[in-house]
Amino acid sequence: MFFNRRQFNLVFTAAPLLSAPVLAQDAGFDKLAESFLEGLWKLDPDAAVNAGRFEFGPQVSLPSAARRGRLRVFLKQWLAEFERQPEAPLNTSQRMDRAMLIAKIQSDLWRLDSLREWSWSPAEHNPAGLLDLLLNTDYAPLPERLKTLRPRLVALPAYYRAAQASLAGDGGITREHSELAIQQAPGVLGVLDDIARRAAEAGQAAAFKAPLAQARAAVNGYVAHLKRLLPTARRSFRLGAELYEPKFAHDIQSARTARQTYDFAQQRREEVLASMQAQAAALWPSVIGSEAPPADRFALIGRVIAKLSERHVKREQFVDEIRAQIPVLEAWIRDHDLLTQDASKPLVVRETPEYERGVAGAGIEAPGPYRPQDRTYYNVTPLDGLSDAEAESSLREYNHWILQILNIHEAIPGHYTQLVYANRAPSKVKALFGNGAMVEGWAVYGERMMIESGYGASPEMTLMWGKWHLRSVTNTVLDYGVHVLGMSEADAIDLLTRQAFQTASEAKEKWRRVQLSSVQLTSYFSGYSEIFALREQLKSRPGFDLKRFHEQFLSYGSAPVRLIAAEMLKA
Ligand code: ZN
Ligand code: ZN
Repeated sequence: MFFNRRQFNLVFTAAPLLSAPVLAQDAGFDKLAESFLEGLWKLDPDAAVNAGRFEFGPQVSLPSAARRGRLRVFLKQWLAEFERQPEAPLNTSQRMDRAMLIAKIQSDLWRLDSLREWSWSPAEHNPAGLLDLLLNTDYAPLPERLKTLRPRLVALPAYYRAAQASLAGDGGITREHSELAIQQAPGVLGVLDDIARRAAEAGQAAAFKAPLAQARAAVNGYVAHLKRLLPTARRSFRLGAELYEPKFAHDIQSARTARQTYDFAQQRREEVLASMQAQAAALWPSVIGSEAPPADRFALIGRVIAKLSERHVKREQFVDEIRAQIPVLEAWIRDHDLLTQDASKPLVVRETPEYERGVAGAGIEAPGPYRPQDRTYYNVTPLDGLSDAEAESSLREYNHWILQILNIHEAIPGHYTQLVYANRAPSKVKALFGNGAMVEGWAVYGERMMIESGYGASPEMTLMWGKWHLRSVTNTVLDYGVHVLGMSEADAIDLLTRQAFQTASEAKEKWRRVQLSSVQLTSYFSGYSEIFALREQLKSRPGFDLKRFHEQFLSYGSAPVRLIAAEMLKA
């Protein structure tokens, strides 16, 4: 999951519509933002390529102290520049852009100098994602792509030397991120094999032979170095409150603190469980039968969910079923006046391309703001590669009801709809540095909103939505619990399985994710709860209209909910 950047990032970024009307805006500010971005791409060509600027592909950047130093100077200059810009001449969108740029730069500086992940996480240093992106994205003919990535290949030994020099001595790295880097090495070597294959295809095998051999030796050398360090690795993977609170503030941009969000999630968890308990009790006789229901809340809910999960599509129907549901969701949104959909932008459902597979499931793949010509896809990975038992487990998870909620989340009115709206407000800043909590929060809000509108109305759907919603809430409880409160692995697994009705394999995967990442898992609940609170606040005003609320909320693009709320409450 951490190997392929395209999958992990799942950037729901927007391609600006070039023909969109330009509102009264300060051209000077837009120029300034533009020159910041161009300067940033020069210093950070990896970020440039990830954003779709493939012409930066041949530029090598090493994870060295010198490079971090140049970046620091650049960021500090631009922070001062944007802080100097007066707000008065800017329109609403530009004011949000300015706030987001300042927040992004502050966040980058904090990462460089306080979080310092480059010093304690060996997995931070992984050149394979970019090589894979340059090799396998169809932005140019193969010979040109090989030419573009060659300098990076040649620089791999220097890359790993810089990485080793960046890592803290005296065992100040974490065991978990070291093991991850070691586990990822075969994947890195796999990308090198891929390059060898494609080079041979293009008749360039000889020219790539020596750099590939040196690159392989460099990967193996890094692994050997990490294996030597491993026995002394003693930094905890847990962030601790001192780093967690500022990271939450930088990444989520919430009006609440991490602690407040955690407390709020605990409260929401209790509400959801109480209503799931009532629904499960009501469903018990028809779903389970005359057997006496267990007194324990979790046992009661778990039994009913397990039985209902038997209703699912056949494995070979998985992709077709998802494809069939999209027009149903579109019709529901239209017929229930929930928001206006742009009919000229139909969503293309496709099987995930082979080279992007590896993480099961479904997700929106959208082009970055520099690739407006590329299409947006709803990638669905068919269950082909799984054993019968694995396929059955996936199908029970994505059962009759949950599969519909998944489509609501990923596609309509979730991520895809949000993306279409974001595209209408052309802002490169929001498209590039969009707020993850707004994006995920909208998708989670969309699930609730659809259930409220009566979609799929049945006690079974309500219970299954409860399970799905509980997952977002539990993500927050888990992340804060593990990183700040020292939650043990056994307690985490119990929270996820017995108390949130997830499968053992899903829980295991989540435990791994929470050790290797931090804060991101809180984005779902944090964003959702702020959007929901905003709606409830506006609802109390006369003339509130749900459709108008949705359309206005989405019209600001992927800005932090806190900033959107301030605008919407102003009126
Ligand atoms: Zn089954
Ligand atoms: Zn999502």
